[in-house]
Amino acid sequence: CGIVGYVGQPGAVDRDYYALDVVLEGLRRLEYRGYDSAGVAVVSEGAVDHRKKAGKVAALDAELAASPLPNSILGIGHTRWATHGGPTDPNAHPHVVDNGRMAVVHNGIIENFSELRNELAGKGYNFVSDTDTEVAATLLADYYNKDAARDLTAAMRLTCRRLEGAFTLLAVHADHEDRIVAARRNSPLVIGLGEHENFLGSDVSGFIDYTKQAVEMGNDQIVTITAEDYEITDFEGNRAEGKPFEVKWDA
Ligand code: GLU
Repeated sequence: CGIVGYVGQPGAVDRDYYALDVVLEGLRRLEYRGYDSAGVAVVSEGAVDHRKKAGKVAALDAELAASPLPNSILGIGHTRWATHGGPTDPNAHPHVVDNGRMAVVHNGIIENFSELRNELAGKGYNFVSDTDTEVAATLLADYYNKDAARDLTAAMRLTCRRLEGAFTLLAVHADHEDRIVAARRNSPLVIGLGEHENFLGSDVSGFIDYTKQAVEMGNDQIVTITAEDYEITDFEGNRAEGKPFEVKWDA
């Protein structure tokens, strides 16, 4: 029920935290929304690594203490409110696809997931969870490697045009250590702007500890964020303007 994303710039951010701390802090801030599982993924040195657990963020913290993730300047996090598949570890997000190289988190419901699942199963894909999300992630990986020629943003556009329902989606890939691609349809997503670092949150509480400068996106839009920039388009690839605003309340 909550989503957080963070991308910084190695050596340029005047703080001594790494992506994981920012993402976990954001998830704790979003706990008020209610959830049954939590998970995080980081990208570092050309690899995606993740941890996920049914239960509270505290259970994820314990998992991370037992099995730490590498330092990274790029991370995504998720708290899940199960709609498709019970609250188990395999059904928790991130869903990792493309031979471990892509991680996806999702809030919402993909209504046409069973048609898409059959289509992808017909192409030889296997599924390890009962979620609608893994179907969207697999479709994204398929587009990424084929029609989108390894352009993550283009792959997200092609994917979103096929999805019915409500979704906030974030994707990271081992090939692109500097960016998060995110999409929204009838589900919330806000961009947070920092100095040499940028943020994503399902609401501003996901990054309120770090910046009050935010950008609102329209519906049916995609954003690609790097440490220095963000670019919004619609699902067809036309450029769109976000609406900057300042968060007025204190955390
Ligand atoms: N439909 C997805 C699932 O059941 C996402 C649920 C959510 O919004 O957290 O895993």
